[in-house]
Amino acid sequence: MALEKFTASGRFRRISEDLFEIIRQENTEPKDGTQAARKLAVLICKDAASRKWGPKWLEQAGFTTLIAATQADLQLAADSLQPALLLVESGLRARNGEPLHEWLAASSLRAVPRLVLCSSERDVEAALECGAVDVVRKPYNWQVISKRATRLVHSVSSLLELDKAQEALGRALNYANDARQFLQRVEDIDPLTELPNRRKFSETIDRILNSGHCQENGLAIMLIGIDRFRSVNDSLGHAGGNEILAEVGRRIQGCLAREDLLGNNNGGLITAAAAKLGGVRFGLMLSHGGSNQDLARRAEVVQSVLAQPISFDGQSVYLGCSMGISVATRDGDSAEHLILNAESALLEIKKRGGGIRIFRDTHDQALVRRIELERKLRDAINNKALQLHYQPLICNQGRELFGVEALLRWTCPEEGRISPAEFVPVAEEAGLMVEIGDFVIRESCRQLREWLDQGLPPIRMAMNLSLIQLLRGNIVRTVRESMMDFALDPALLELELSERGVVKRDPEIMRKLQQLRALGVRLSVDDFGSGEASISYLKHLPVDTLKIDRSYVSGCASDERDQVMGMIMATLGKKLGLTVVAEGVETAEQLEMVQSWGCDASQGFYFSPAVSSDQLAEMLRKDNQL
Ligand code: C2E
Ligand code: CA
Ligand code: CA
Repeated sequence: MALEKFTASGRFRRISEDLFEIIRQENTEPKDGTQAARKLAVLICKDAASRKWGPKWLEQAGFTTLIAATQADLQLAADSLQPALLLVESGLRARNGEPLHEWLAASSLRAVPRLVLCSSERDVEAALECGAVDVVRKPYNWQVISKRATRLVHSVSSLLELDKAQEALGRALNYANDARQFLQRVEDIDPLTELPNRRKFSETIDRILNSGHCQENGLAIMLIGIDRFRSVNDSLGHAGGNEILAEVGRRIQGCLAREDLLGNNNGGLITAAAAKLGGVRFGLMLSHGGSNQDLARRAEVVQSVLAQPISFDGQSVYLGCSMGISVATRDGDSAEHLILNAESALLEIKKRGGGIRIFRDTHDQALVRRIELERKLRDAINNKALQLHYQPLICNQGRELFGVEALLRWTCPEEGRISPAEFVPVAEEAGLMVEIGDFVIRESCRQLREWLDQGLPPIRMAMNLSLIQLLRGNIVRTVRESMMDFALDPALLELELSERGVVKRDPEIMRKLQQLRALGVRLSVDDFGSGEASISYLKHLPVDTLKIDRSYVSGCASDERDQVMGMIMATLGKKLGLTVVAEGVETAEQLEMVQSWGCDASQGFYFSPAVSSDQLAEMLRKDNQL
């Protein structure tokens, strides 16, 4: 070995194998993972002055310096010791006769940064062309060269670090990408069945609709509802139910491989997808170029697949399913519409005991409206968007405002104002009326208390009651608690029940009405004369007020029969000792008429429509005469 090391005492020492090993260890296996404190430089040159001064200055600049005498030594040092820098004189030749630094550029040592000591301008160019990181020209100033060497090594290691950082960044980005894909999958997939969820299903439908393919080929959306799944859950438990649903998902997915279902012969398949849409609802999206019969036939295929028994825990579970189907673009031009329509067809067929139904007629349209309204109404309840307005009740004698009727008001963000005449029946059917009704009672009582606290005169608060509240809710408790919480005289509260409601002489309803009456609140029959109620029921009802339906009032000017009927009803009410109120009084003429019938009070646009609580307080404040 012809490697020499510049020693601390300023001498050169030919290094032994032991010393070589020590240098190797110091340089390539730094302790505690940090970089070696001193960088290794290997110098190869013939120039005597450089051999003398080079190592000295390099050592001072922080390099451990070895001097190689031959190409073999240089190679050995570079291969084994991982030097930070090679310093090579341009005039030296490799064994094959090439300039040594050029040979280096092509050898396995090309990655080690090289500083070339050049004797001429030509050498400089050649060295740079061969990838030298730096060059110096004769005469060599080693003080300067050692400083350049330090900076060079520093910048090369920064570059290396940068490379490493970039690599790490690349890896991090890959992880982030994987994570994003994973999250996307979780967002799109139903975890139980691993089928796309409703969001993904809608997105796929919309994508196909927007691509324009379905104009040519048609697209059918099939919604599948599992019949009586509750009994499966009841008998197998929740976990068992989940396993069954997972199997249903697999079967529905499996349907997509069946030609008889895909209708390949039928207009060509655009794409097909199965999804779980929440609960026990599944969805299928299929190409459709045929007739409704063809659709129904394909739906039957799905039904028969699901009708096969499922083995669970040694027993066979039998399932039935119902299906609602809609077709693009006949039944809608967006996923939302198509799913809604398929859903309404499904609901409709379930109501009729189950089966398959293709969305089509106006009846289904009404059902769609109902479903839509129900969804919006639920949002309105959650967002506390339902309000009350108050319509004055006017005494016919002195014309004073002696009470108000609380009426629900709902301004839907998408549709504007929706009448309670439209949404109350929806709320009743959707099981929302007890909650809404409780709100009406509590809020009217709170409002009355607020007016009283403002020093306004005590007036009667009439609230509309839905039959549903009498059948399902705990109406007596709600009224009692509201009355007590707001410290109200029960005689100020009146509950209106439409004639169409009270006609059912259900003992349970009668009992509740008696209980309400026992609280001291008043009861009133609303829309009297609008239904087919027989007047005999008035005998049994514990009521205080009769409100003559506004159809008699509006018709009285033109139709003599309405006049007679109105008069008879008012007389009947009076004979029974009830307060009689005429509804829907819009003109002075109508007012005169209802007064002639003997009505005690009137309500209608002639005096005022229902107004906000502030406006009503203002009316009461001004003077309570209208
Ligand atoms: P209703 O109990 O017969 O209420 C009177 C309806 O007639 C109100 O309509 C009122 O604005 C309207 N009206 C009042 N004066 C006149 C008039 O001079 N001419 C005409 N053409 N109409 C007049 P609204 O507020 O649309 O309520 C409709 C129905 O919705 C109510 O009929 C009632 O059955 C139901 N409703 C309203 N609020 C509630 C509530 O809080 N609970 C329940 N269960 N039903 C309610
Ligand atoms: Ca009413
Ligand atoms: Ca009425």
